[in-house]
Amino acid sequence: MAARKTPPSVKSPSRRRAAGDSKTGAASGRLGGRIAPATNAHIETAPEAVDSATLTEIFRRFHTAEPEPKGELHAVNPFTLLVAVVLSAQATDRGVNLATGPLFAVADTPDKMLALGEETVRSYIRTIGLFNTKAKNVIALSRILVERHGGEVPASLEALQVLPGVGAKTASVVLNIAFQVPRIAVDTHIFRVSNRIPLFVGSTTDKVQAGLEAIVPEPYRLHAHHWLILHGRYTCKARKPECPRCLIADLCRYPSKTAA
Ligand code: SF4
Repeated sequence: MAARKTPPSVKSPSRRRAAGDSKTGAASGRLGGRIAPATNAHIETAPEAVDSATLTEIFRRFHTAEPEPKGELHAVNPFTLLVAVVLSAQATDRGVNLATGPLFAVADTPDKMLALGEETVRSYIRTIGLFNTKAKNVIALSRILVERHGGEVPASLEALQVLPGVGAKTASVVLNIAFQVPRIAVDTHIFRVSNRIPLFVGSTTDKVQAGLEAIVPEPYRLHAHHWLILHGRYTCKARKPECPRCLIADLCRYPSKTAA
């Protein structure tokens, strides 16, 4: 088990910069290398990350509460999952699902997506941000899957990352959900939760992902991504965490917990 970093002091300037100096395209902080300031303005960290026993207890409780957590993007196979995750950059899962329902009904394989063509794909996803670029990417990645991978989604980080519109984080999500690889892609919610409790303190999503993948106990690593993302989305919210109903409130060291 890797040693966790000792975080800088609470509310130190470096911590605030870490939370707010995003220059990536991820306006909502989704799966970007850094986190957008608007959604993480309230990140503070306790003086020290929780110890290993506490870390294990936190994930034991997540597991007890939800043994098989699920993501909220709709998909029927690895290909539709890949497309949904590509479309979800700077978009909500709900918005993506509204668009992909009709799209996947007519194109749930790379061959069918290619046959549909870029213009038609664009018409299905025009409610999603950056739909022009995303339509191009969906067609281009479908072509590569057909030409190089026999129409299948490869279960390889390297092969996934060379697909248009697919970065390391998207590849991690696909590997985790479609192929049960225990990777912990870090989005804005996981970045906030990890730094608040703190599980692992890091100034970028990449650092937090590497840290979490090193310290989360193996039995819990596969589902850690979903547990943490759902915890951040519905309980440990950015502006007002719901600490009184939080199942790990007695273990969390966040100095600004909310009162009932
Ligand atoms: S106690 Fe509050 S700050 Fe800590 S994890 Fe729970 S909701 Fe988040």
